[in-house]
Amino acid sequence: MNIPEIIDLRSDTVTKPTPAMREAMATCEVGDDVFGDDPTVIELERMTAEMVGTEASVWCPTGTMANQVAVATHTRPGQEVIAGNWSHIVNYELGGIAWNSLCQLYPVSDEGGRPSLKDVDAVIREETMHTPGTGLLCLENTHNRRGGRVIPIEELRALADLGHRRDVPVYLDGARIWNASTASGVPVSQYAACVDSMMFCLSKGLASPAGSMLCGRREFIDRARRLRKRMGGGLRQAGVLAACGIVSLREMIHRLGEDHENAKRLAKAMSGSGALQIDPETVQTNICIFKLPEGVSGTSVDFAAAARAEGLLVTCMGRDHVRMVTHNDFRGEWIEAVVRRASEAMAKIG
Ligand SMILES: *Cc1c(COP(=O)(O)O)cnc(C)c1O
Repeated sequence: MNIPEIIDLRSDTVTKPTPAMREAMATCEVGDDVFGDDPTVIELERMTAEMVGTEASVWCPTGTMANQVAVATHTRPGQEVIAGNWSHIVNYELGGIAWNSLCQLYPVSDEGGRPSLKDVDAVIREETMHTPGTGLLCLENTHNRRGGRVIPIEELRALADLGHRRDVPVYLDGARIWNASTASGVPVSQYAACVDSMMFCLSKGLASPAGSMLCGRREFIDRARRLRKRMGGGLRQAGVLAACGIVSLREMIHRLGEDHENAKRLAKAMSGSGALQIDPETVQTNICIFKLPEGVSGTSVDFAAAARAEGLLVTCMGRDHVRMVTHNDFRGEWIEAVVRRASEAMAKIG
């Protein structure tokens, strides 16, 4: 069996475009998307809206830009945005909400993968002479930093209904919504139907080199398209990238279950080995967040460096945790090698 010298489990973003994507890029028709006449972008946006069940969608170069555009489109300066304390929007977008939307974040605990109804209910507020009004509720499904957890559809609906009863629009960061759908069997259109707008990434498990789709009502998407332009996201012959997105939607969704199986198997093998700790029962999709064993003197940074030297790439999540994400360029047959390399690395940082 051929095991690569480097096994890269840092993220599902490390996936390379497939041969079918290279082919689609070479042969697709393109136009100038800022003038609105790139046929391949138009087709991807149409396909997306149809699959997700929204009126319209707009291609964005990154998920971060899609999130930022969405928040800016939903809110007014001076409002408050409620989001999970470990969400991508709060942690990995460099304070972008303050920068781009002039709003303040109100983080609520999302331990367990989503904020509780009780907490959200308690912090939604109306604008007064003294307080900012809540402008938006953001949810994340699957939840990246909480280990790829899926928000069950009933809970997502209850949270969205709560927002709507209090006149607060609801946005779903669905970077990995196709993973959520694959794991739960709930169609993506049902998740999207609960909320006002949603984004998903083509560039993660779906293996495109770039691109995220922002989905919602036509009027919302029209305004989002203008904001995307203002943020510098108006690409010209974007069809060469959209062509990959079409391949992602056609060919890459149905295989996500394989990533989930591999993640589960990896979690079981690793916890059996004693190198890193995880409860395999908590692994629902393609993300494993492992804890360093008690009493280890090294940190996650030390482990990641030692693992790199063994030919295993992981990311650090705080001092005591490391993340491994399965994806299209990873094979189940490599799991044993991953565990072996992790054990070697652990022995070194003991
Ligand atoms: C990756 C990710 C994003 C942002 O996507 P980029 O394309 O990397 O900017 C947003 N939200 C979540 C939950 C993500 O995992």
